Formats: sequence, structure tokens, C-alpha cells
Amino acid sequence: MSITLPIYMDYHATTPVDPRVVEAMLPYFSQHFGNAASRNHPFGWAAEEAVETARRQIADLVGASPKEIVFTSGATESDNLAIKGAAEMYREKGNHIITCVTEHKAVIDTCKRLEKDGWRVTYLPVRKDGLIGLDELRAAITDKTILITIMAANNEIGVLQPIGEIGAIAKEKGILFHTDAVQAVGKIPFNVGELKVDMASISAHKMYGPKGVGALYVRRRNPRVLLSAMIDGGGHERGMRSGTLHVPGIAGFGKAAELCRLEMEADGRRLRELRDYLNERLHRGLDEIYINGSMERRLPHSLNISFAYVEGESLLMGINDVAVSSGSACTSASLEPSYVLKALGAGDDLAHSSIRFGLGRWTTKEECDYVADKLISVVTRLREMSPLYELAKEGVDLSTMQWTPH
Ligand SMILES: *Cc1c(COP(=O)(O)O)cnc(C)c1O
Repeated sequence: MSITLPIYMDYHATTPVDPRVVEAMLPYFSQHFGNAASRNHPFGWAAEEAVETARRQIADLVGASPKEIVFTSGATESDNLAIKGAAEMYREKGNHIITCVTEHKAVIDTCKRLEKDGWRVTYLPVRKDGLIGLDELRAAITDKTILITIMAANNEIGVLQPIGEIGAIAKEKGILFHTDAVQAVGKIPFNVGELKVDMASISAHKMYGPKGVGALYVRRRNPRVLLSAMIDGGGHERGMRSGTLHVPGIAGFGKAAELCRLEMEADGRRLRELRDYLNERLHRGLDEIYINGSMERRLPHSLNISFAYVEGESLLMGINDVAVSSGSACTSASLEPSYVLKALGAGDDLAHSSIRFGLGRWTTKEECDYVADKLISVVTRLREMSPLYELAKEGVDLSTMQWTPH
């Protein structure tokens, strides 16, 4: 089988829309174009039916009831609604929130905003494997704690936080538990009942659905979670999120959820094998490479590796026909390395020279071979020009070396 370049290996960032999802969306643009809130004519009814079908499909994927699914514009909005909505609603009860340093910016920045407005936020550290400690979590809880928000799967390193255990602790203490489940839902089993989750953020475009559509699962029983709306007007979505629903997007989201429910197990098995194959090939071809985050508690399609003794920029340039993400966030003028990798204790160099591999529904073994070959040759070439690598190979301990100018 031949491969087409460039190769897409950045499925954590976004996923292509599955053709079957596109198919499910098409009738809702021009044919059944009604407003799902139009209650008095067939145009509205057709749109509403599509939305309610999708609501059921998404609920089925996470073990919720359809009424517990609130549609949003994406997981960034879901995270905002969950955290700010709960903070505002339960203000009387307390002003303390617990989260973790490796959360997505949609959670971190939301918490930062609340801090400015007088809330207190504890950012739990992570261990070297990327996971929080449950003892630290317990110790952080006070009688003012109203919310714990910890992600299910990390978007940079793919590690799986102990969500079930966190849910149990939150329940025992009577604290609400929100999880940003964007990277986990549709990829691994995720059941809001078993995990004792009160709120969960989901995004369609991370699971082969369209961009700009998301959902927040909001528990209705045991306890019934109330949220202050962030967007007012019209009272759609049980008053939690006003605005005309994006019917085609939601229909696609529903179809994507159904496909994930049916195919997740087979997909996961196949991708785990491919991921392990890629990892093994890299380890066979190169020394001084380091996996970031727990390999045991990890999404099946996810791998994050630091390549020591190469410079991040040169590394990325060398593999410019492979779409991956790196630990260098070049989005800002300052070249700040990934805060997630730093939180695991990685030095700046190793954080910069890291690559996140995200495999997905259309990744092939041939592509993994291409990526492995390419990386092995690029890293080998870059290291041939690296005096540090040479010294390290001669057994010089660089960390204790005295750098004397002469
Ligand atoms: C992508 C992502 C988000 C944001 O989702 P959008 O739908 O793009 O707003 C939030 N959290 C995690 C973990 C993500 O990976």
C-alpha cells in the first residue's frame, strides 16, 4: 500500500469528520433546515427530532440519560459552563476549587479567571508519570471546597487520571466532580455512573465529528447539579445554555458518538498495536529517547517521546511531512516549552525536543513505518552534529561537568 504525504499523526488536536458523519449531517443544512426550537410546525419538529436522536446517541456513549446532555459550541465552552456555572451557583456553600497543573487551558484559564474574582483554587501537582496523587487530593479538600475538576485523559501526554477514585472521594465528601473528558470519550470506555462523575465535557471534533459542537453532561439525580447559565437568552437546553442549536453539527455529533460506541473497542485494539509498534521501532532505532507519562495508564492511540540531544526546532523541520505536535509551543513569541511536560519534571531541552504522536481511525502501519524511519534518520543525523551527544556517549556525565571558558 502506498502512503500519501503529509501524514496526519495529530489526532489529539482534531480528527477528520468520518464520511458517515458527513452523510448524517447533510440533510440538516438545506432540506430539514428548521429551528429546533420552532414547536409549531414540521420544519421545527424535524430539527428537534434530529437533536433528540443525537442527545440519545451521546447519552448512550457515556451511560447518561438524554436529559443530562447540554449542547454547547465545544468543550472550551463546556469547561467554562461547568466550572463557572457551578462556582456561581454554589457560591454560598464555598469558594474553593481543586484542579491540577496539567489541565487543558480551557480549565486552567477558567480557574485563573475565578481566582481574580475571589475564588480560591488549588492546582494539584502531578508525579513523574503525569498522574495526581489521591492523598494530595484528599489533603487539599476543605469545608469550602465546592468543586473538583480533573481531566480524564491528558491531551498532550495521553495519561489517564484515576477518575473513578476521584469520583468516589468527591462523592464521599459531598463535592461536585467535573471532568474534561474530551480526549477519553469515544476512545476508551467512559461511564458517568461507574466513574461517579457529576459533569463531563465532550467535544465532537475530537471524535470524528464536526468542529464547533460540544456537550456538557450534567447529572440530574444523586445529586441534581444546578448551574448558572453563562449565556442568557431564550432558555434553551434546560436554561443552562441559550442559543439556537447547531442542528447539522449536533446530528453529526450524535452519529459520531454512535460510531465510537460501536467501533471503539476494535479501533482501540488496532491503534494500541500500531502505537506500540511505532514506539518499539523508535526504541530499536534510537537510544536516549524518553516516554513522557505513564505507559500503563494511557490512551491506546497516544505516545509522547522526548528525543535527547536534538534541538526541538531542527527536529520538527526534519520531519516536516509528518503532522505532529511538539512540546515547543511556538504560538507565542517567547518559545515557552510545554507546561505539561515541565510539570512532569522534564527540563527545558527535553520538553522542547518532545513529539506527541496521535494515531487515529485512518492511521496505517505503513505510515507508522514511514514516521519511524524518518525520525530515526533525522535524529541520528542531528546527533552526529551534537558535541553533547558525543560526550554523553563517551561516558561523560554532563550534569556534573564544569563548563570552564577558555
Ligand atoms: C480540544 C480540547 C478542549 C477544547 O475543545 P474545543 O471543542 O476545541 O473547544 C478541551 N479540553 C481538552 C482536553 C481538549 O483536548
